[in-house]
Amino acid sequence: MSLSETLKFPNGIEVNQPTGLFINNEFVPSKEGAKFDVFNPSTGKKLLEVYEAREADIDAAVDAAEAAFHGVWSKFSAGERGACLLKLADLMEKNLMELASIETANNGKAIALAKGDVAMSIQTLRYYAGWSDKIHGKVIETDNNATFNYTRQEPIGVCGQIIPWNFPLLMWAWKIAPAICTGNTVVLKTAENTPLSAYYACTLIAEAGFPAGVINVVTGYGKTAGAAIASHMRIHKVAFTGSTLVGRAIMKAAAASNLKKVTLELGGKSPNIIFDDADIDKAVEWVNFGIFFNGGEVCCAGSRVYVQEGIYDKVVEAFKKRAIMNKVGDPFDENTFQGAQVSKQQFERIMGYVEAGKKAGATVEVGGNRVGTEGWFVEPTIFSNVSEDMQIVREEIFGPVCTIAKFKDVDDVVAKANNTSYGLAAGVHTSNLKTALEVAHRIRAGSLWVNQYNALNHALPFGGYNESGIGRELGKEALRNYTQIKTVSVNLQ
Ligand code: NAP
Ligand code: MG
Repeated sequence: MSLSETLKFPNGIEVNQPTGLFINNEFVPSKEGAKFDVFNPSTGKKLLEVYEAREADIDAAVDAAEAAFHGVWSKFSAGERGACLLKLADLMEKNLMELASIETANNGKAIALAKGDVAMSIQTLRYYAGWSDKIHGKVIETDNNATFNYTRQEPIGVCGQIIPWNFPLLMWAWKIAPAICTGNTVVLKTAENTPLSAYYACTLIAEAGFPAGVINVVTGYGKTAGAAIASHMRIHKVAFTGSTLVGRAIMKAAAASNLKKVTLELGGKSPNIIFDDADIDKAVEWVNFGIFFNGGEVCCAGSRVYVQEGIYDKVVEAFKKRAIMNKVGDPFDENTFQGAQVSKQQFERIMGYVEAGKKAGATVEVGGNRVGTEGWFVEPTIFSNVSEDMQIVREEIFGPVCTIAKFKDVDDVVAKANNTSYGLAAGVHTSNLKTALEVAHRIRAGSLWVNQYNALNHALPFGGYNESGIGRELGKEALRNYTQIKTVSVNLQ
């Protein structure tokens, strides 16, 4: 039985790609032997088959993770845990082109972006490696030294992690790094359409020094493998990134099983706001990057652009000119900015929204069509003449499609920005600091970017208000998701 296949990419990179489930530091077939196809979205062609995890495989992964948590991993010092993460980061750096090429072939994203994702994944591992030996409790005085009280920040145990397809390797790193540095073990499920980069990274785990069972990675469908994680009685925490719809299902499953702790990173419909006094060229550059980066398959995409009346016409013209300059196409071309959408299904979803926008009476300023006839490419698309109740203004499209509308003043744009069930991020472009900070503080969202967009960094907390999620990833904040406080009180009398 072969558990790997050779993949050769257009840039000459060749990899030995694992296709089994990664459990106990080994690639293994699934218990029932089921497999499914994995595609290259830029050609629409099959890349290979991988094993499909089902409930029994999740059980096996939990067995491995539980044994490691109570056994060998609990004997690692904090510094030793950090050393494993640092070694993994170094090994990933050596394999940067392999990981980036796999990501490009499997997700469709431009190779320049994929390299950036690998670099950010490495930075995330190094950042949390640094935290591993800086996690500690407090001493708390209560009653004239009659008792000695202290807290410990202890790991939770086996953590379940479910990730999406838009940043397959980066989401893997965002999830495992804070969990591992705090002493937990993990069972992570990749999205079923993009398992390859995380599997390839798993080939480096044993060499990095992680004992068997600490990091387990499987792929499978959400309804079976994902649901088995969310409702597992021996998983005590679940972290999910994906749609709000599935986020609700995860929370219900957690409540109905063992009340495992839940963190959710969900979608968004983030506003990107340009005031009359902004530097128009710079603002347009950020607005373009805000929506078209990663083909719009970004949870914090700036998909609702609001422009103050005085410069609206000027901005629409400049934005159109800028959008058509984005190089869309072959993701292995180093100059490509926007590659393929992740799948036929996602492509059809996006085109469905474009049709809905046209039908509702919105104007296509630019784009609106498929690019080419092979693979799943969509033109950067801007809709104007939109009203706040249109589907394209209200729902997350998760593609290279945005709306542009006018506003009068701060009160008007704050009301519009907050007129959403989401609250993940927002951008504001202005040369007036007072306006920038007033808007930043009044918008109900987790990240506010002033005169920039998508300014993500491993040290900065990221997460949603309202239906965009629960909890924060990245930064010191993420450590809370993976630790629990124990209070110890000693009678000194
Ligand atoms: P999704 O359904 O939310 O999938 C995200 C992850 O959850 C995948 O690993 C998925 O598995 C899994 N999953 C699905 N149903 C599950 C269940 N009942 N229990 C446990 N896990 C489950 O997202 P999608 O279908 O891939 O994309 C649909 C839309 O979600 C997009 O158009 C976009 O609006 C949004 N989305 C948001 C993000 C984000 O970063 N916030 C990322 C991706 C998508 P499988 O897919 O492998 O079956
Ligand atoms: Mg899916």
